[in-house]
Amino acid sequence: MKLQEVNIRLNRIIFHIDVNSAFLSWEAAYRLAYRGGRADLREMASAVGGDVALRHGIILAKSIPAKRYGIQTGETIWEAKKKCPELVLVPPDYGLYEKCSAALMEILRDYSDVVEPYSIDEAFVDMSTSCHLFGTPEKAAEQIKERIYRTLGFTVNVGVSSNKLLAKMASDFQKPDRVHTLYPEEICEKMWPLPVSDLFFVGRVTSGKLRSMGIRTIGELAKSDPAWLKGILKKQGEVIWAFANGIDLSPVLAEPEANKGYGNSTTIPFDVTDEETADRVLLALSETVAHRLRADHVQAGVVSVGIRYADFSYVSHQRGFYNPTNITTEIHKTACRLFREVWNGMPVRHLAIHTTRIDGEESWRQGDFFDSSDYGKLFRLDGAVDRIRDCFGIDSVKRAVFLNQPIDHMSGGISREKRSVDDSLREEDRSWHLELASIPGSLLEAVSGEYKKRLRVSAGLPAQGKSCL
Ligand SMILES: [Mg+2]
Repeated sequence: MKLQEVNIRLNRIIFHIDVNSAFLSWEAAYRLAYRGGRADLREMASAVGGDVALRHGIILAKSIPAKRYGIQTGETIWEAKKKCPELVLVPPDYGLYEKCSAALMEILRDYSDVVEPYSIDEAFVDMSTSCHLFGTPEKAAEQIKERIYRTLGFTVNVGVSSNKLLAKMASDFQKPDRVHTLYPEEICEKMWPLPVSDLFFVGRVTSGKLRSMGIRTIGELAKSDPAWLKGILKKQGEVIWAFANGIDLSPVLAEPEANKGYGNSTTIPFDVTDEETADRVLLALSETVAHRLRADHVQAGVVSVGIRYADFSYVSHQRGFYNPTNITTEIHKTACRLFREVWNGMPVRHLAIHTTRIDGEESWRQGDFFDSSDYGKLFRLDGAVDRIRDCFGIDSVKRAVFLNQPIDHMSGGISREKRSVDDSLREEDRSWHLELASIPGSLLEAVSGEYKKRLRVSAGLPAQGKSCL
């Protein structure tokens, strides 16, 4: 790196935006804005908890009042309930989180072109060249924070500094709804007194090792001998010593512009733990993606598969086609191969297929010596199926593998997605009525009439009548 570039990077203005109790805030804001809710989950002891039956009941996010009971993310619902028997539990809704995250990133892009989504609820923003448009860095940060709250209904913390590490440390100071600065000159006052476990990149194991070496605070780590540290912790020793001293030259990496393409994704009503089931879900997604490509008379040159695991971590993997295609079985075959190459064996909660490098449709294709499929036949078959579905509805014809299956044979897509996210009670939400007993009356009152009716129906109760929920 040239000296000039180093100087530029030392004088940057970097923000780190972090949604406060993201999953819980998003659910709370959604209930208030779209479900006719009056009670705010954030103001009561509440938590987003994994499905009791399928996900072993883990707390995924908690409200601040719940935190006061000592409830921690990652502990079991059983443990949490022991600490606070009146804890209100709501199930996770990944579709909602994705929408909230996308809306957040969109607002951030109004303030800078250089936005790096860091996780579903965090982003770095390089404000170096645009900050002057909004006043001082603190004023700009306040403005972003207020706008997010006004438009989207949830609060964030904004950390302000000259690099990513310090901005991230700053956003973690007192919560919620705060702007904090952590400029290099503030490090010794604001960061050094903190326990070493609070430093980014220092996990439980490393902080244990450091404590055994007599290093308890970030300040003590900063003042330790870097060569000695490297001798013990190798490369990580070097990195955390630099972090403790507030040194980080890494750039904010703006996400490349969303690829023009066709894709669909689906949250599966249960955890997928075997390849055969994953293949079936991928087939259902291939059906809808390929159908959209054909409807627009285009073909895709690249297909990618995205996997969201039950712990919400995400991986994706892509591959190009020898011949661009919009044939369902060709997309499916490649998707299955991609899945096998990247799946780590952990339970899968959400699958996606995305196609890119879109081009106009050709009814002929370049012969491929290794291609044994009869393209003309597949092309005509898909065309016939499309016409039947166009005339008689998408459920008029389906593949036999979907018979007696809980998987929607046409997964993803706007109409079905909308139905499953916004209106009907999905299979996975059936755990709701088990948990309803734990929701106080005031909150149930807040749930709109229509939704209540659906809950009743799903719980096997008549839609009308005196509520016993
Ligand atoms: Mg957060």
